[in-house]
Parts: sequence; structure tokens; C-alpha cells
Amino acid sequence: MQGKLIVVSGPSGAGKDTLIKAALAEIPSLALVASATTRPPRPGEVDGRDHVFLSREEFERWIREGKLLEWAEYSGNLYGTPKESVERLLAEGRNVILRIELQGARAIKKKRPDAVMIFVRAPSLEETRRRLESRATETRESLESRMATAVKEVAAREEFDYEVVNGDREQASETMIELLRKIVEGEDEDAG
Ligand code: 5GP
Repeated sequence: MQGKLIVVSGPSGAGKDTLIKAALAEIPSLALVASATTRPPRPGEVDGRDHVFLSREEFERWIREGKLLEWAEYSGNLYGTPKESVERLLAEGRNVILRIELQGARAIKKKRPDAVMIFVRAPSLEETRRRLESRATETRESLESRMATAVKEVAAREEFDYEVVNGDREQASETMIELLRKIVEGEDEDAG
């Protein structure tokens, strides 16, 4: 049986990674697809596991060769979902998580209307800024650009099937795990 395609989106600094990591540890059928990106690796990030790190030239070749299910420019870098990884995992019956920004989420929904859409956000934009500042991996310019994007992204949250507000980290992790369990078991109402 084909697995489900699950899109997790929401502003940078919302804590998507933490919630997804918690769910991956609890639900073995879930798989997170490593995105291709032209963004340089952050300390600790491993090529092929966290992302596939490409030069802009290589990324553009992937676009031309039709290797990406969707792609978008975000904060000056290109990000895209490798088509082959998604198809292989779904065919293996895994439930596939795409951790992508809004334009990509919309593109997936258009191509795959059966995809389940989850929006993750911090309790407020002030909190989003605080989290991005404390991450200390962003330059001032990148931080401001991510904040401007966050405002637009939050305005689109009603396009999603579910929203998880990440205030208390443990509580939000539990909410996310419970929601994903329901989705993979086909017990959620929205996902047919
Ligand atoms: P970051 O640089 O923080 O890893 O990612 C920046 C933004 O790009 C995040 O909102 C993340 O969800 C998004 N992103 C990561 N991979 C992809 C992808 O493959 N496609 C799209 N459209 N967005 C992605």
C-alpha cells in the first residue's frame, strides 16, 4: 500500500524540526525527505541526511532534468524536493514528510490533492523573532528576510488541514505525534 504524503510547513523558527524529530522517533513508518538546497550547511548538518547540498548550477540542472517535485526560492537560496526519494519511499509504504515553505506546500497540494497539510507556528511573531535571534545562525539580513516571510506565511495558515501551535515544546511534540498517528492510521477526518 502506498504511504501518505504529509506536508509540514510554517515560518522559520516555528520549531518544525523539533516536532518532526520527536514524531520520527515515535512513528517508525514516517520518513523525512532530505531537501536539495543551495544554502550552505549549518554546523552539524550532514550532506544527504539533513539536506542534499548543491551549488546553484547543480540545482538549476536538477530543475531542468525534472528531478524536483517542487522547488522555491527562500531567503536568497533555492530549496527543492527530490522527486525520486518521495516516490521510492511512498512505494515502500512509508509515510513521507516534506518540511517545506509555503510556495512549495501550495505546489504539492496542487499536484497531489491527497497530501495532508500541517501548519506549524510559534505562539506569536514576537516569539518567532526571539527564536530566530537565539538560533544565532542567521545574519541580520537573513533574519529580517525570514521575519518578513513569516508574516506572509502565517496569513496563509487557513489553507492547511491542521495547525500545531508550538508554545510549550513537550506539549506541542505530543500534539504533533498524536496528529501524525491519526493521519498515518487514516483516522483523521480531513484526509480521505
Ligand atoms: P532552512 O534554511 O531553515 O533549512 O529552511 C528554510 C525554509 O525552506 C524552511 O521554511 C523550510 O521548510 C524550507 N524548505 C526546506 N526544504 C524545502 C524544499 O525542498 N522545498 C521548499 N519549497 N521549501 C523547503
